[in-house]
Amino acid sequence: MNEHKDEVFEELRRLYPAAAPELHFSNPYETLVATILSAQCTDRRVNQVTPAVFRDFPDVRAMAETTPEILHEYVKSCGISKKAANIVNACRMICEKYGGEVPHTMEELTALPGVGRKTANVVLAFAFNIPAFPVDTHVFRLSHRLDLSQGGTPDKVEQDLCAIVPKEDWQDMHHRLIFHGRRVCHAQRPDCARCTLCPFCPWPGKNGPEPDAASPRAGA
Ligand code: SF4
Repeated sequence: MNEHKDEVFEELRRLYPAAAPELHFSNPYETLVATILSAQCTDRRVNQVTPAVFRDFPDVRAMAETTPEILHEYVKSCGISKKAANIVNACRMICEKYGGEVPHTMEELTALPGVGRKTANVVLAFAFNIPAFPVDTHVFRLSHRLDLSQGGTPDKVEQDLCAIVPKEDWQDMHHRLIFHGRRVCHAQRPDCARCTLCPFCPWPGKNGPEPDAASPRAGA
């Protein structure tokens, strides 16, 4: 564990005081759909397709009544052809089992098609304001490089982060790690020369051309 973790968190707070989701959504249904679409896709791309999706399928019931083939035409630029089927089938299940209301427990969410622990944590945190620490590809990579966790899976990294970050800071610190991963600590060629976390970063590959040692295994 990084003996300078407190300095790391303090610097992340200073760098990104107003960390917030970059995906656009305004209710639990939209959060679920946008997050499923964001797997292995950029937030920017998802934000380009969701206005039309939410216009034509404004709620769980409307989505449950369409077909994967129709939805696919809206979301095909987000990759992974199964995403449309997962969204439609998840909404059908929500109608059948939960009266059209997106559930708000980890167990119920991860029983939905296409919803893994990361997606469920995003929905819990940002749709229901339930403390959660989603671990995506950026959080996983930065946690390893900064030695906040050496967990081999996103679930283990999540456990480690939850143990060292105050609960009230989980959501914000999730965003701060993502912001830093997108802007500075890229998977390939991290910009260590302009990284103000450098004094506290023990990663042996920093400042060098070493390929990404901590490849993510982020869940859905
Ligand atoms: S010093 Fe380099 S590897 Fe370490 S956090 Fe900064 S950008 Fe990432």
